[in-house]
Amino acid sequence: MGSRQVSDWQGMNVTVAGLGVSGVSAARALAGLGARVTVVDGGSGETHEARAAELAEAGVVVRLGDARTLPEGTDLVVTSPGWKPSSPLFAAAAAAGVDVVGDVEIAWRLRGPDAAPWLAITGTNGKTTTTRMLASILTAAGLRTAAIGNIGTPIIDVVLGEERYDVLAVELSSYQLHWAPSLRAHSAAVLNLAPDHLDWHGSMEAYAADKGRIYEGNTVACVYNAADPATEELVRAADVEEGCRAIGFTLGTPGPSQLGVVEGILVDRAFVADRHKQAQELAEVADVNPPAPHNIANALAAAALARAFGVEPAAVRDGLRAFRPDAHRIEHVAEVAGVAYVDDSKATNTHAAEASLAAYEPIVWIAGGLAKGATFDELVTASAKRLRGVVLIGADRALIREALARHAPEVPVVDLERTDTGAMSAAVREAASLARPGDTVLLAPACASMDMFTNYNERGEAFAEAVRALADEHA
Ligand code: ADP
Repeated sequence: MGSRQVSDWQGMNVTVAGLGVSGVSAARALAGLGARVTVVDGGSGETHEARAAELAEAGVVVRLGDARTLPEGTDLVVTSPGWKPSSPLFAAAAAAGVDVVGDVEIAWRLRGPDAAPWLAITGTNGKTTTTRMLASILTAAGLRTAAIGNIGTPIIDVVLGEERYDVLAVELSSYQLHWAPSLRAHSAAVLNLAPDHLDWHGSMEAYAADKGRIYEGNTVACVYNAADPATEELVRAADVEEGCRAIGFTLGTPGPSQLGVVEGILVDRAFVADRHKQAQELAEVADVNPPAPHNIANALAAAALARAFGVEPAAVRDGLRAFRPDAHRIEHVAEVAGVAYVDDSKATNTHAAEASLAAYEPIVWIAGGLAKGATFDELVTASAKRLRGVVLIGADRALIREALARHAPEVPVVDLERTDTGAMSAAVREAASLARPGDTVLLAPACASMDMFTNYNERGEAFAEAVRALADEHA
């Protein structure tokens, strides 16, 4: 599938699956290029009607209440990332011999001949952070860039927009990769691989294969995590351009063709003249915000991609220094009575929670919510010795309580049997009474938030608010 000329869209019958942010963006863009666009969505109701009315003005037909049947004469289906591959609409498309692609594929096909190359990032955790770190480094190097993909402006709008870029930092989810067969990044990184979204992909193998698609056709570097052999495996399996290199990152001393850490310094042994003899200092660990181990790994991955693009060492340092993490990602909220309160509400799975639990000691851990089918034995075993105590909230807290009983029976656990809105403030109070000066109270739920909150943002806000109330009492 080569890139399409804009004129190819004229008169094409495109069915867009899903009336969400990416669906609306795709529908508008393709209608603007002359395609005949129909959006299908199984939902109904006021919000849907309102969006449909807006799209109608742009000449887009919206069919609500039926997401299963393929509109007559469809030439191409453009799906929103969330739709499962097993959705009936796609079976109908397959039966009719019609391709199904996602918004990233469309964006890729719409790039002009002199378009900015993509530096792409995926992984189970750390995608947004690493992509934004990379954009910060590229900006520090004086390059015109943006962090896009799963973040910020919809990717199609960026590609079709007026603004010119030298290079783009692109976050890609496994869903987006699944539906982007012809994407060819300049260089790409898979940060880590842990079971997640298996209900969507069907199996761990299928999930890994979709992540691995990011390396296909890379021209300069495939960046992998030396501590996660599954990521290196994906590099080996990829079909890349002649001369493209495998570059590892490690929290230890880097070998040749790796970036790593030596005595508190981030070091490059990949993009130097003689990688067997030379090492290039890039930045200090203290330049990384926050300097937690998993975040240093994110910084190394971002640095590797920037260096693959030819960025100078000083810009890596300046970019990392300028980077500010997004809210609710290991965010230091306050110190009260000698205890630090840290909000990592974004730790919505066990792999993410394990990373943030590894960054502190001793910890009073606030956890719980919707487990999404996860088990907690590994997480509890890995973190047990750092725990001063645990406060459990949310629907699936019994799963964590049982894992604690099995692997950390001596750790005190407060099981809050409430899921009302005041529960977070009670949790913070319980945590405060378990903590001693020098400890960290860490909200790293290892679970989704939707049993008690609208999303992880609201959960993090509730935590921060409870901590501020506590601080006021101590003021
Ligand atoms: P994503 O975009 O992949 O969801 P984020 O950068 O938003 O990732 O980080 C989500 C959460 O994952 C963070 O709050 C942190 O708990 C955890 N995390 C970040 N980077 C890593 C990493 N490299 N390894 C493991 N967990 C991480």
